[in-house]
Amino acid sequence: IPQMQRALLSLTIPLEMLQLVKSRMMEAMLKGLSRETHAQSCVQMLPTFICSTPDGTEKGNLLVVELCQKHVRTLWVKLLGDGNYSPEIMYKIFDLPESVMQGKGEELFGFIAKCVCQFLSGIDSPQAPIPLGFVFPFSCKKKKLDEAELISWSKGFCCSDVEGKDVVQLLQKAINSQEVYNVDVVALLNDTVGTIMTCSTRDKPCEIGLVVDTGTNSCFMAEAQLVEMVEETSGRMCVNTEWGSFGDDGSLNDILTPYDQRVDQESSDPGLKRFEKLVGGLYLGEIVRHVLVSLTAEKALFVGSNVSTLRTKDVIRTEQVLDIIDGADGMETARKILEALGLSPSERDCCRVQQVCRAVVSRAAALCAAGLAAILTHMREARGLEQLSVNVGVEGQLYQRQPRFGEILQSVTGLLAPECTTTLLHAVDGTGRGAAMVTAVALRLAAQRREVDLLLAPLQLSYDDLKHVQALMRQEMELGLGRDTHANASVRMLPTYVCATPDGKEQGKFLALDLGGTNFRVLAVHVGKEGIRMASEIYVIPTTAMTGTGEALFDHIMECIIDFQQKQDLMAQVLPLGFTFSFPCQQLGLDKAVLLNWTKGFNASGCVGEDVVRLLREAAQRKEHLGLKVVAVINDTVGTMMSCGYDDPNCEIGLIVGTGSNACYMEEMRNVGTVEGEQGRMCINMEWGAFGDNGCLGSIFTDFDEQVDEKTINAGKQRFEKLISGMYLGEIVRHILVAMVEKQLLFHGKPCSSLMERNIFQTKFLSTIEVDGLALRQVQGILQDLGIQASFEDSVLVRKVCHTVSLRAAQLCAAGLAAVVEKMRENRGLDKMAVTVGVDGTLYKLHPCFSQNVQKTLRELAPNCNVTFLQSEDGSGKGAALVAAVACR
Ligand code: ADP
Ligand code: MG
Repeated sequence: IPQMQRALLSLTIPLEMLQLVKSRMMEAMLKGLSRETHAQSCVQMLPTFICSTPDGTEKGNLLVVELCQKHVRTLWVKLLGDGNYSPEIMYKIFDLPESVMQGKGEELFGFIAKCVCQFLSGIDSPQAPIPLGFVFPFSCKKKKLDEAELISWSKGFCCSDVEGKDVVQLLQKAINSQEVYNVDVVALLNDTVGTIMTCSTRDKPCEIGLVVDTGTNSCFMAEAQLVEMVEETSGRMCVNTEWGSFGDDGSLNDILTPYDQRVDQESSDPGLKRFEKLVGGLYLGEIVRHVLVSLTAEKALFVGSNVSTLRTKDVIRTEQVLDIIDGADGMETARKILEALGLSPSERDCCRVQQVCRAVVSRAAALCAAGLAAILTHMREARGLEQLSVNVGVEGQLYQRQPRFGEILQSVTGLLAPECTTTLLHAVDGTGRGAAMVTAVALRLAAQRREVDLLLAPLQLSYDDLKHVQALMRQEMELGLGRDTHANASVRMLPTYVCATPDGKEQGKFLALDLGGTNFRVLAVHVGKEGIRMASEIYVIPTTAMTGTGEALFDHIMECIIDFQQKQDLMAQVLPLGFTFSFPCQQLGLDKAVLLNWTKGFNASGCVGEDVVRLLREAAQRKEHLGLKVVAVINDTVGTMMSCGYDDPNCEIGLIVGTGSNACYMEEMRNVGTVEGEQGRMCINMEWGAFGDNGCLGSIFTDFDEQVDEKTINAGKQRFEKLISGMYLGEIVRHILVAMVEKQLLFHGKPCSSLMERNIFQTKFLSTIEVDGLALRQVQGILQDLGIQASFEDSVLVRKVCHTVSLRAAQLCAAGLAAVVEKMRENRGLDKMAVTVGVDGTLYKLHPCFSQNVQKTLRELAPNCNVTFLQSEDGSGKGAALVAAVACR
């Protein structure tokens, strides 16, 4: 019969159409998540402030109170920490008088508080304070897990003086004023969210919750940084989609049938909740009824029967629809139901009614699947995954009563989101148990947060701490500069004999050597009117040369220079040479530097205590290379300052934050007690890495710093550097992580052998992990490469540790700089001073927030100095040439 076919066809949504529904749902979800479009979105995507699912370690007794349509339910849930497989639950239901539902807010909360106290009086010695989870299924503006303003009442409630107020506080006050029990309202949630929580066990975290009951809704764990309505950017947050309103903007119009339009018009809220009205149990019976009414009118059904009863609203209930669709039994059910309505259905009528019911239920399940597929795809994309495998907790009578619903849901979801594997789990009492879980998770996280804070507190420096470090640095600087105090100062303040920064008028062609960084290089530098041009060559220094005799080392260096000059066709010229030699030296003149000790793997004999320029010149003589004219030897800090100084004449400070850390600056000659002369300025190589080696930083060092220091080849030395530079930050982080594992705060407390390996956690990982907005999945990836299985929450914690360590490093660096710039400002008798710092070092350059943190802290510590930071490009090479050039000038 064509009428029948037409009706069934209109209720069947083809797969391509379902795909379309899915992508529209995804669009609506994104719209709801975005700050700009949130207000216009029909899918609201409400943040719940629930940031973690249960991991099975939750333990203890919890109280739940649920405000329902006509009653208040209280539950006592005992979690055993056994993976959440078998919580013990006791509950009690209290009737809620209508007068209370519509009276004063105070009375309502007083009533709930009385229920709570009465319930607790039947429970053996509850420990205090008793944590309580409050299920409050009304639309709220949530600000925290335990703060939610009621937007408006619904479901027959209209108590005065509650809208716009924080209902958690109202309940807390009401319970407190009973003065019987010490109860702490820890969490507020609506009913959907619980579904996720009940289905999560230790082995199977559940990340999507689906409710298909009288209404429909869903929630899922979203990437927090995509939930723009809240500030949280790290981790995940459960989002309550409120997808029942999907389609209220017309986006479902092309699948709505005339039956749906009639159902909508007869509902209490026409035009709203369009998606829910296609899926929710409250409406399926009505849709079927309207189909039957119209088929009867078209004479396709019940020919000859009196069908007036069919015109009454709600005579067919959804449970009946669900029962009718099952085979022969269903046919029988259909007959009984129809007869009860005063119809006398034929065999064929029953069959057709069954077909209609099937079509309506299948359509509901398929639409639900389209929504679920939208969530799955959104999650998969947000996490940057090719494949996603998740557990979905499902609750509600449609799913529970009719297995076909679940089957269709599962199979259509598979078709619409083929890259995702879903396991549907049946949620039992999601609301009550779920609320207990949310509360338990909140307690677990709060306890964990307190312990983490305790552990990290010594690494968190206050403004006063930093001011103290600044003052100490200043004091050590004075000691290092003083003729009589110099020998005992931890900051050596070495004179460099560089007395001027470039003025931009330098010209000429120079050679430069760079020894002591990661590579050995020879450079030809042409300084001209149009700027600086360079050619350079990297040479390997074999380990045999690094650790053999000094003569062999310098012979090798000489050979590299000659090779370079030949390649560059520079043999015929005598070029002034600047030598960047980045090892600690006692400098006696611009071209005279006595090596104090080797570092960085060098250990050539016969060099310590010698002037390295002389060693180089002697090698030139041995090689009969007469065209070498060494005019200056500098360290890399000075090179950095000089190279930036060429572009910015205000640059009078050099800073290195790479493998190690050091700084130099232009000091007044009159303050340099270790060099004769009062006129002008000289660049001072602070060697600030050793700051604190005399114990003055004792209050800043943590246990972690001591552990790192103990294992270095220079224990007790370079203590400031060991708080700041690239060689050490990863190690500090590693030690903190080890302590956290020991305290059961990380990786479920499982001992982690790879984490015990020294230097396994490199400083460059901090840079990657701290990139703003990096998906936590990538953090997990980094840890996985280290052989560490990190959960999602572990990753959040690891990131926090990295932040803490790199922030402290940046702040300490700023405290050191503050001492420098303030001294310079006072030297010059200025109220305000503008100065530029030339900076080099991979940590400073590549870490995502190190440089901002240095600058921000410096502004706070030295507000009278306007400090600009300029990153040097190839400071060591350029700088050496510029020192040579300035010297020639
Ligand atoms: P050097 O100080 O030896 O001249 P660099 O300035 O390149 O060399 O610094 C090297 C140091 O930088 C390494 O010890 C390493 O700890 C650190 N580092 C390397 N890559 C990164 C990165 N991406 N982020 C932060 N630090 C890094
Ligand atoms: Mg360097």
